[in-house]
Amino acid sequence: MSRVTLVTGGMGGLGEAICMKMADMGYDVATTYSPGNTKVDGWLAEMKEKGYTFRAYPCDVSDYASAQECISQIVKDMGPVDVLVNNAGITRDMTFKKMDKVNWDAVIKTNLDSVFNMTKPVCDGMVERGWGRIVNISSVNGQKGAFGQTNYSAAKAGMHGFTKALAYEVARKGVTVNTISPGYIGTKMVTAIAPEVLETKILPQIPMGRLGKPEEVAGLVAYLASEEAAFVTGANIAINGGQHMQ
Ligand code: NDP
Repeated sequence: MSRVTLVTGGMGGLGEAICMKMADMGYDVATTYSPGNTKVDGWLAEMKEKGYTFRAYPCDVSDYASAQECISQIVKDMGPVDVLVNNAGITRDMTFKKMDKVNWDAVIKTNLDSVFNMTKPVCDGMVERGWGRIVNISSVNGQKGAFGQTNYSAAKAGMHGFTKALAYEVARKGVTVNTISPGYIGTKMVTAIAPEVLETKILPQIPMGRLGKPEEVAGLVAYLASEEAAFVTGANIAINGGQHMQ
């Protein structure tokens, strides 16, 4: 029986590429979408045309009960989750002067609380079975900070703190926990930025002079999920075209 991968936010730019890559690697793939997202049937049909059969589950990753319910349904339908990719995320950018509680909370809950909400129902099972992979999709802006992103940078940096602490706890149980910190990747989250800002402010910061491709991040997820990556844990792997070198 093939292993089960759950990718949160699989209908997004990065999530879709990760779902496809994991399916190419032979995993059974489940993903989540926000409750109320009406595009799910169309997306599943589009994926099917491309040769991918995914299962998609409604889940508000920022809500603990919703996460529990979603994962228990996945386990019923597909079996236990072996690989969890915490990918769903949002931005609500504004300077700290303008930052209000609503936009602070939305970003912390969706990007950071979600990691707890989704990992909690799957981690004990991974430990009991002696095999598991947890991959948290953070951001270069969690590593270096970014103007207008106190909420997002805090949440993304928090994800890696979680990664390191949990990696210690499960290190001897065959379960790895890692963070990937992408730089600017050409998804709608980034192409929504005004073209002049992209050209004059963002691309000049990237030594490679281009945006990353979702498939490049997906390839790294597949590696971290593989047997070959069994000795990689607690890592924060940058994939940013040289934008931020540590
Ligand atoms: P998209 O905006 O394309 O996709 C985000 C996904 O998250 C969507 O599928 C969305 O689902 C889902 N999502 C948002 N809120 C919730 C919620 N409350 N519950 C469930 N799902 C939710 O973003 P990207 O693909 O670009 O980004 C994916 C991840 O990568 C994010 O965590 C982002 O922070 C990170 N990242 C992206 C970078 C980039 O350059 N693109 C750079 C660095 C990090 P739905 O549409 O159904 O709401």
